[in-house]
Amino acid sequence: MDLKDQMNKRALFLSIGAAFMLLTAVLTFHTLQTPSHQLVSPPSFTQDPAPSAQMAERLSHAIQFATVSGEGSQKQVEFTKLHAFLAQAFPLTFQILKPERVNQSSLLIHVPGLAPEQPAALFLAHLDVVPVEKGTENLWQAPPFSGRIQAGHIWGRGAIDDKQSALALLEAIEAMLKAGIKPKRSIYLAFGHDEEIGGQQGAAAIAKTLQKRKLNCGFSLDEGLVIVPGNMIGMKPPIALIGISEKGYLSVDLSVAQAGGHASMPPAESNIQILAQALVRLQKNPFPARLSAAAQAMFAWLAPEMPGLSKVVLTNLWLFQPLLLKQLSAKPSTSALIHTTVAPTMLVGSPKENILPAQAKATLNLRLLPGDTQAQVLAKLRQKIADPRVKIDPHPGFSSEAAPESEIEGNEFQLLHQTIREVFPEARVAPSLVLAGTDSRHYQKLCKNQYRFQPVYLNTEDLNRIHGSNERIAITAHAQASRFYFKLMQNL
Ligand SMILES: [Zn+2]
Repeated sequence: MDLKDQMNKRALFLSIGAAFMLLTAVLTFHTLQTPSHQLVSPPSFTQDPAPSAQMAERLSHAIQFATVSGEGSQKQVEFTKLHAFLAQAFPLTFQILKPERVNQSSLLIHVPGLAPEQPAALFLAHLDVVPVEKGTENLWQAPPFSGRIQAGHIWGRGAIDDKQSALALLEAIEAMLKAGIKPKRSIYLAFGHDEEIGGQQGAAAIAKTLQKRKLNCGFSLDEGLVIVPGNMIGMKPPIALIGISEKGYLSVDLSVAQAGGHASMPPAESNIQILAQALVRLQKNPFPARLSAAAQAMFAWLAPEMPGLSKVVLTNLWLFQPLLLKQLSAKPSTSALIHTTVAPTMLVGSPKENILPAQAKATLNLRLLPGDTQAQVLAKLRQKIADPRVKIDPHPGFSSEAAPESEIEGNEFQLLHQTIREVFPEARVAPSLVLAGTDSRHYQKLCKNQYRFQPVYLNTEDLNRIHGSNERIAITAHAQASRFYFKLMQNL
């Protein structure tokens, strides 16, 4: 190696070193410069609306009515009994405010505000529950409709989803009436009775009623996200996630109806095999990973609260976004945050083992990221499958577009943020995206600002109990949630 070569090499090393130092300086500067979004709320006096043991009793009692969503007079009876119990448990609310029944089983309660010209607050919850899957009854520590109070928890179907919300809201209203506190802004409680099967009879009907009355809605608050342990993402403080958007919902049928034929002389490619190839193509070619505005906002709010290297990564997504997307894609629960997902759920072939089906059919359930419309997604499916023999049709029944993102800069979000910091001072607030669907979608036209936050602490284990076995809520969590609503209604 001659002298010139050596000099060139040295210059190269020096410039790489300089670039590296510059990058480190930029990352450090940017990380240190990014301020926290958390409001510093002065500690304020927060009070439980009622003794926690009594609130637990009332929730326990409400769980004992098997208000499983669906048609039929037997089911109707359970809702009627639940209403009667609520009337007796919350006498002031029912005597003074006279809740309205919508489509028999849903409830609408109006608390007039002192300044009725100001935009109202709409609190959503649902009184129906999902059924207990046959064969899983024995897995429950306490019978699912027992509402048993044991080991510091209230157990049963609806203990989290969503009788907890409805009861906590009623606790807050009842306490306000009892104490003679009048809210500044009008409050509406809207409890649907068929959220778990799409909300057409409940929430959709209530929304129509409110639209006719020209409700001036400031914001709606619904179930959707909760307070989760920070260690889920390597952070110490718990995180209060407020859903500012929710994914869309679409089911699609794929069908192939080429010639059938005899199973003893099968064609080179049967209907089932053509369909199977289409499904494999979809699996191999998923919708691309991307950060929706809601996910971006979540990371922007979490970044300043994160420790060490995670903070550097999340603060500098201009550089690390590909790394983050790769990491999120690794687990189904986080992958759903950044993808429009495709889940094959039903398959239909031949009715007999020795007959080739005249038609093979698969149903896919898709959850759409905000920004992906149903029409775009259907067109993309056609492109990905790229086989004209496969017919692609929307599955009959319910579908919804992803909800537009509600604002996080305005007063309404700030009101939630501030109240969370008052009632749960240790928690950090972050906007986020709801992966499942809620009744909020029916109120989209009515309320520009839709937030989805159930003010309860839930760990990963308890989150898995929702729609599963052994659903339960801690007595303290129910009391805190009631306190949150009580405080929020006074902060309006
Ligand atoms: Zn629910």
